Amino acid sequence: MLPLSSTTRAQNLALMAHEQFDVLVIGGGVTGAGVALDAVMRGYSVALVEKGDFASGTSSKSTKLVHGGIRYLPNFDFALVREALVERGLLLQNASFLVHPLAFVLPIYEGDRHPVGIPFTTPGGIGMSWLLRSGLGMYDLLAGRRNVRMHRHISREQVLKLAPLLLSNGLQQGFIYYDAQTNDARLTITLLRTAARSGAVIANYAEVTGFVEEREKVRGHGSKIGLRKVS
Ligand SMILES: Cc1cc2nc3c(=O)[nH]c(=O)nc-3n(C[C@H](O)[C@H](O)[C@H](O)COP(=O)(O)OP(=O)(O)OC[C@H]3O[C@@H](n4cnc5c(N)ncnc54)[C@H](O)[C@@H]3O)c2cc1C
Repeated sequence: MLPLSSTTRAQNLALMAHEQFDVLVIGGGVTGAGVALDAVMRGYSVALVEKGDFASGTSSKSTKLVHGGIRYLPNFDFALVREALVERGLLLQNASFLVHPLAFVLPIYEGDRHPVGIPFTTPGGIGMSWLLRSGLGMYDLLAGRRNVRMHRHISREQVLKLAPLLLSNGLQQGFIYYDAQTNDARLTITLLRTAARSGAVIANYAEVTGFVEEREKVRGHGSKIGLRKVS
């Protein structure tokens, strides 16, 4: 039987009404899907409910990037960037059918004192190219053996060849660096299906409306079960 279907949904809702679970995850976005998969793989019994369709919230409306957070480098938040780069590498490795390398062209314009939103500038903008090169080098270094590809410096002509719609006035040079891209909703569904296949009990169109508390501990939840329209 498919790990997520209308049949399993009905069965899962019946199970949730009678069984006890170690973990109840509320929300079938990418966070809930990841938490459910992580918990079930650690041996916990897991139930997950989603009030709408899976990934119908933010997890289908992101920019679809799997990035290492290059914009956090100017804040010197190296630990965060390193963690995100490792996760990026793991996603590329574990879900290569869903996560693909993506090249970015970074154009540098004359007089641009804050390229890519860098919050500080060098005196007169001198050395900005060197600063960017160092930042991108650091991004490559922090990714370690999981790096997608090393960044490289490109000429004005190469920038325009790769991105012909860019303004050519004042364009001086550029860089190429790499991150990754995914389909956020499909990634979420894949995580949920993997969690379901591993034993998580999952249902959508089931909204949590309140908690049943006993001696200051949550021991259940109120819910509203939606019906899907089938045309
Ligand atoms: C414009 C934009 C661009 C972004 N770009 C990126 C990007 O490039 N890369 C990246 O990694 N991240 C990006 N993000 C961030 C990323 O999209 C979010 O961090 C992520 O989707 C959050 O997932 P979530 O599961 O926490 O929330 P959601 O996807 O919103 O999931 C929460 C779920 O909980 C359900 N729910 C709520 N209340 C209840 C209830 N009472 N009962 C049952 N279910 C309930 C909702 O229906 C919803 O489906 C971006 C975000 C935005 C807004």
